[in-house]
Amino acid sequence: MQHALHSGLREIGFSGHYPYPGALRNPPPDCVIPAEQFESYLTEARRLRNKYAGRLSVRIGAEFDYLGPEISFHPLEVSRALGLDFCLCSVHIVDGVVIDHTPGELRSCVSEFPGGIDDLYRRYWETVLEICRPGWCTTLGHLDLIKKFSNESDLRPSSQPVELIGRVLDAIAAAGLVLEINTSGWDKPCAEQYPSLEILRGAARRGIALTVGSDAHSPGDVGRKFDRLRGLLAQLGVSTLARFENLERGEYLLL
Ligand SMILES: [Zn+2]
Repeated sequence: MQHALHSGLREIGFSGHYPYPGALRNPPPDCVIPAEQFESYLTEARRLRNKYAGRLSVRIGAEFDYLGPEISFHPLEVSRALGLDFCLCSVHIVDGVVIDHTPGELRSCVSEFPGGIDDLYRRYWETVLEICRPGWCTTLGHLDLIKKFSNESDLRPSSQPVELIGRVLDAIAAAGLVLEINTSGWDKPCAEQYPSLEILRGAARRGIALTVGSDAHSPGDVGRKFDRLRGLLAQLGVSTLARFENLERGEYLLL
């Protein structure tokens, strides 16, 4: 919170990773709040919201992983029941493969896809397409996370599934979902924000509203590379960002 204040932020959102259902086999390590601790997360977030009222607006949300159609919980309904401000949805697992953990882990799984890394990319975007539906969430997180280790030549596709990505953007626009620009990508092996400039241009052409996030897993990462982000937003001609309170969308005017 102190770092956010010192960075000049006026609003901050918490997006703790919602627990995986107990039925999930081999959940990925780290980063997911265990079910028995999720209530404490909300309690602490509410305490901070009250403590910093008038100095820094605190919005409370959660990040929900898409685990396939067979795991049936509805992120927006869960968010409504929990009284959250926003509901971030993202894909970290494709056909049981965790795509963002380590390059070694990803590499060891690529052979499970008949067409190798190109096939995995295609399946990633097909999986993302499944959550681009009206009322599923408020916001899509780090849209092209699959590129995280694409600095390694064998984990880079021979070409991007451009037509499929276009369909994903069409679906986001039709569903009225908000797209996050996630600055953590600049600190990852891919060394690029999520999503790419080309995807962001496609989003802008379709009138898709944007929000920004730093995916901070430690206090020093709050608002990371937001100066660089300002340049990107200017390049895109973006003057307003989407914001949420009680799952209602509003606008945040960039100064
Ligand atoms: Zn995530």
